[in-house]
Amino acid sequence: MSIKDNLNNIKSTLPAHVTLVAVSKTKPVSDLMETYNVGQRIFGENKIQEMAEKHEQMPKDIEWHMIGHVQRNKVKYMAEFVSLIHGVESFKLLNEINKQAKKYDRIIDCLLQIKIAEEDSKFGMSASDASTLLQSDEFSELKNIKVVGVMGMATFTDNMAQVENEFKSLKHTFTELKAINPKLKTVSTGMSGDYQLAIDCGSTMVRVGSSIFGTRNYN
Ligand SMILES: *Cc1c(COP(=O)(O)O)cnc(C)c1O
Repeated sequence: MSIKDNLNNIKSTLPAHVTLVAVSKTKPVSDLMETYNVGQRIFGENKIQEMAEKHEQMPKDIEWHMIGHVQRNKVKYMAEFVSLIHGVESFKLLNEINKQAKKYDRIIDCLLQIKIAEEDSKFGMSASDASTLLQSDEFSELKNIKVVGVMGMATFTDNMAQVENEFKSLKHTFTELKAINPKLKTVSTGMSGDYQLAIDCGSTMVRVGSSIFGTRNYN
């Protein structure tokens, strides 16, 4: 099936309240344009430089989401155009995003990445660290960022019961944090292999790559 058919098939299964981020990392602009031409406007990338290059080359009504791990010294390369940064896991990073956003007189939307997986390799804050952050005075002083929700990555496993528990714990954390900050609205979780389960467990934003664009070649 073509990229465009893959996209349309996935979209036809998504409830109206769920946002689809087309994860286009490693893929050429021509592949992205195939989905753009049938209406896709939200793309997710995990490398800032690659995202900046694609942003240069592509139409300007696209929302670019940074879904990868963010190094503080690279925030400046995306501050002018990024729409949503999914992987924020420290106050220091939030502070840097705020500083760079200010230079462009922007307010950048961010998600707090919550660690829901068992794997040590996965990044993220604990629910209690996120709660402390949202209630801190230093956080309230950041005027050029807006925390709009949470993001999580489940363990890479075939054990779907475990994945389900992890998705549910993210939703639970979201509900707790929303009691502190009623502006929160987004739960970003679920990828090609598990986005339907993620939606059943409360995800409102799925990040789907290989099911749209095909498998990635990292060479
Ligand atoms: C690559 C990636 C995805 C998409 O993964 P697929 O399995 O190709 O759908 C989603 N989220 C993050 C953070 C990623 O890095």
